[in-house]
Amino acid sequence: MINGLTRGGPQTKPPTLHVVQPHYASQSSFCTYYFLGSKKIVNLSSECVKLFRMATITKSDELRLYNRSRILTCLRVNGSQSRTNIGLYTGLSGATVTQVTADLINDGVIKQVSPVPTAPVATSITNRRGRPQVILKLNKKAATAAVLTLLLNQIEVNIYDYAGNQLHRINKRIVSSSLTSAKLKKQLIETLDAALAADNHFKSSLKHIELVCQGTVTSDNSGLLWSPITKVRDIDFGAILQAHYGICATVSNDCNMIATALHRERQTPSNNANSLHSASGTDNANANFATILLSYGIGLGFFHQGSILAGSHSSGTEFGHMLYEADGALCRCGRRGCIEAYASDYAIWRKAKGLANDSLPEDIIPQAEFENLIAIAHQQDGPERAAFTAAGAAIGQGLTNLFAIFDPFPTVLIGTSAIAFDLLEPSMVKNLRHYGTGDSSSYVSVYKNASESDLIRTGASLQALSFIDKEVFSFGDRTTTALKPTIS
Ligand SMILES: [Zn+2]
Repeated sequence: MINGLTRGGPQTKPPTLHVVQPHYASQSSFCTYYFLGSKKIVNLSSECVKLFRMATITKSDELRLYNRSRILTCLRVNGSQSRTNIGLYTGLSGATVTQVTADLINDGVIKQVSPVPTAPVATSITNRRGRPQVILKLNKKAATAAVLTLLLNQIEVNIYDYAGNQLHRINKRIVSSSLTSAKLKKQLIETLDAALAADNHFKSSLKHIELVCQGTVTSDNSGLLWSPITKVRDIDFGAILQAHYGICATVSNDCNMIATALHRERQTPSNNANSLHSASGTDNANANFATILLSYGIGLGFFHQGSILAGSHSSGTEFGHMLYEADGALCRCGRRGCIEAYASDYAIWRKAKGLANDSLPEDIIPQAEFENLIAIAHQQDGPERAAFTAAGAAIGQGLTNLFAIFDPFPTVLIGTSAIAFDLLEPSMVKNLRHYGTGDSSSYVSVYKNASESDLIRTGASLQALSFIDKEVFSFGDRTTTALKPTIS
């Protein structure tokens, strides 16, 4: 009901409502516009009518673009699907799915593949047993995405096609701690150029660049604020890469990419053919979910209410630098008493070797040496085992604090120290039980199916491709050719 149109005294007859946008009305999540069947409608000025019509056109366009995004997300999360299943996953009507998928096929974003006999995926379509259905899938040639990872003394570039297949990878050795801002920028661009030069299609169809860094990035994913592997601070990598390549580039924290990879893994439909996930793949069980990287540093990637939690200025969630013990052990960040100063590889190594807790962190703890430390701790009581016990206590205390604020949520540990979870677990559980409001230790588990570097690559590629789904092929640059890609 439009304010003002029904004023002016009691009404003897209910006004007639005409749905101006029946298409909108069928989409419960969108606005529904009604005009009163009143003569007062004609009193609207022609300018108002023009503005309303413009708004209607804009909203209609936005709805179409939003539906493109929903369908691409559905295919990204659930894999190739029939139109019927897309409708079931997204809740869109059959007519809308047909119209939007036709547009996407015409734009070369998705492809139709030969009909194959399929089993029904939802209980509501049980009368469609075995009937061949046309399958739609993402067109791998629609775009490429580049993922740059800035590692200690190394830059890695991975190129992916639009379907998520890895096409190419190169690594370049650098001395990350000694590079200036200008030299780091030059090295990143040279390495990406070298990767793109491997195939003409890589650069011609490049639609997004994702830069992953260890450390703190801006909350809007535009730049790096601080990283332990370089002295460079506050550098706007997003704008630098965008200026050079002419496409959008975003910057992400490595632990957030691990969380993104594992969150998607939790979303992915199981082998149960009857399971039906929403287009976003998010349900209540996965709304809050975290990964903690236990490695040379300690990082947290935290999905809160289905989205990565970030601070107001930075990527935030610096779990490793939460205070554990006032004026305690020296942390790599320069402060004392952080969780990382007890639970990271260098902290465990320092304590196991009997070094003072204010001695400077070692730059690198060789993996073989750390694995030897784990073996000794397993074999006998002593400083090695005590070091893991101290690490577990610090992690347990930190989790207790997090759970007190957000309620307990599934938390997955990953990394070199997580391999020795049995050594960390007793003291971690003890603190969770002692300081928590209940025993929340059952929420903590260890992930061993893939390495942290594999998960970072996977998460970053998902992030980049999701950006292309939404910002390039759906809501993206509406004034350029972004919606009309040149695809062979
Ligand atoms: Zn710290």
